[in-house]
Amino acid sequence: MRPLINLDKCDGCGLCVAVCCSNILKMVDKNLVIVDGDGCDWCALCEAVCISGAIVCPLEIVLNS
Ligand code: SF4
Ligand code: SF4
Repeated sequence: MRPLINLDKCDGCGLCVAVCCSNILKMVDKNLVIVDGDGCDWCALCEAVCISGAIVCPLEIVLNS
């Protein structure tokens, strides 16, 4: 799993990069990129610090019948 990024909302502040302890978020030419989606531990800190709502970790709910 990996967070979803909306680059239209992202202002390139880099806060999410700073808090990502898995070091999978990088700024490349002022654009946020995920360099290793498999390394994401889904801590959701990136979502928590982003006041622009540009990065989210949506939960998937699976219902077993
Ligand atoms: S914290 Fe939000 S606005 Fe800032 S770089 Fe990350 S996604 Fe973009
Ligand atoms: S959920 Fe956590 S590990 Fe994954 S990109 Fe965001 S801050 Fe990094």
